[in-house]
Amino acid sequence: MDQRKGILIVVSGFSGSGKGTIMKELLEKHPDNYALSISATTRSPRPGEADGREYFFVSKEKFETMIQEDALLEYAQYVDHYYGTPKDYVFRQLEAGKDVILEIEIQGALKIREKYPDTLLLFVTPPSGEELKKRLTGRGTEDESTIASRLSRAWQEAQGVESYDYLVINDKLEECVQQVHSIIQNQHACVVKNHRLIETIRTELKVFAEGE
Ligand code: ADP
Ligand code: 5GP
Repeated sequence: MDQRKGILIVVSGFSGSGKGTIMKELLEKHPDNYALSISATTRSPRPGEADGREYFFVSKEKFETMIQEDALLEYAQYVDHYYGTPKDYVFRQLEAGKDVILEIEIQGALKIREKYPDTLLLFVTPPSGEELKKRLTGRGTEDESTIASRLSRAWQEAQGVESYDYLVINDKLEECVQQVHSIIQNQHACVVKNHRLIETIRTELKVFAEGE
């Protein structure tokens, strides 16, 4: 009965806002609902990151080949590096009925919205700028100058929040994960996601109407 395909979801937010942490919890709690797209990037792995798990870590040359071969759904430059979403995986998972999450920055988010207008766009923020700085520093994975670049980029990104559908405040992690899950599940009830079901019901009702 339920023939709906999965929903495409973009999650953006300032570096250090907790996107990765939220996604990890969401997937652990609901492994059957969601698939997280794995991006390609030219940046180096952080300690603890593995190729093919957090990212596909590729050279600049390889990334440029992927662009030429039209293998990316979107791509963008972020603080000196390329980041992009490989197409294949996303389409396969959507076809299989999974809700697919792209954790990408704002330029990529806007490109996706343009190509696929019924994409759900979520923006994650910590409760304050001070808390963002604390989290970025506390993560301990970037040096001071990279943290400064990311904070400056956060200021730029804050100007684009109005393009998103929902603002998600990551204060208490558990509550935030629950909120993200609810927003996505509610999106399944959107009229634009249910054309096929509506058409089926219309056809059935037409038969009743003609039988009168
Ligand atoms: P992003 O993926 O957005 O760059 P991370 O998920 O790496 O951010 O989180 C940045 C830091 O903030 C990490 O050290 C993480 O453990 C911490 N963090 C994430 N969510 C919360 C939260 N709700 N409260 C406190 N710290 C958090
Ligand atoms: P990080 O280096 O902290 O992992 O990611 C830096 C930024 O790049 C984050 O805002 C992240 O969401 C974004 N990003 C990760 N993958 C992609 C992608 O495939 N495309 C785009 N446009 N941005 C991405």
